[in-house]
Amino acid sequence: ALEARDVEYSFGSTPALRGASVAVEAGEILAIMGPSGSGKSTLLHCLAGILVPSAGQIHLGETRLDTMTETQRSVLRRQRFGFVFQFGQLVPELTAAENVALPLLLNGVRRAPAMREADGWFERLDLGGLQSRRSGELSGGQAQRVALARALVAKPEMLFADEPTGALDSLTGEHVMDLLVDAARGQGTTVILVTHEARVAAYADREAIVRDGRVTVLDRIPS
Ligand code: ATP
Ligand code: MG
Repeated sequence: ALEARDVEYSFGSTPALRGASVAVEAGEILAIMGPSGSGKSTLLHCLAGILVPSAGQIHLGETRLDTMTETQRSVLRRQRFGFVFQFGQLVPELTAAENVALPLLLNGVRRAPAMREADGWFERLDLGGLQSRRSGELSGGQAQRVALARALVAKPEMLFADEPTGALDSLTGEHVMDLLVDAARGQGTTVILVTHEARVAAYADREAIVRDGRVTVLDRIPS
């Protein structure tokens, strides 16, 4: 399980999290919702070991993310986590396929098998034919799906996604959510996603509502 306990985080004098607590079980899908500026992305980044809280704790099983060194956290992120960020995240100079293969290459997989594995994701995400396109030359929705493929390619233990369907039409968004559900149910990936769409949150097992830097967890999705 991954758990934030009483987490606080400020950007300079702006408090973004003010005692946020939430836990997610292995293989579960958690949707983080709430108004713009409420602290959703900040909470996601603290849970993912990208930001270090100024107070409180982040527990991952028996380990503590908030007391690790930067190096330990970056190794953990590379080896066990996948990410889909809210803003620009692909390497524009690399091709779409190289972007997807990147986590495998960074984890020591050789180029040929890494590129083959990446290739399989293009069909699955309806991106066939875009493999050799520079990622800077993709549409917003295409780039978002390439980013999702990159996040899933190494079969991460945990996937952190900030608005993964934000740039997608509703049909493509549903397709992407089906893939996230497959990852959770099929390979036990824990999925934590930020969304403002109730339709997307409906795929989650639970909802965490962030307001003013604090979290309320709803166990059952109201239908
Ligand atoms: P949105 O739905 O618009 O993405 P959010 O809920 O993800 O919003 P956060 O990005 O977590 O919100 O921001 C929480 C608070 O921290 C906001 O008041 C925001 O202005 C502030 N903030 C976020 N990032 C920074 C930053 N890099 N520097 C300064 N303040 C920041
Ligand atoms: Mg955000």
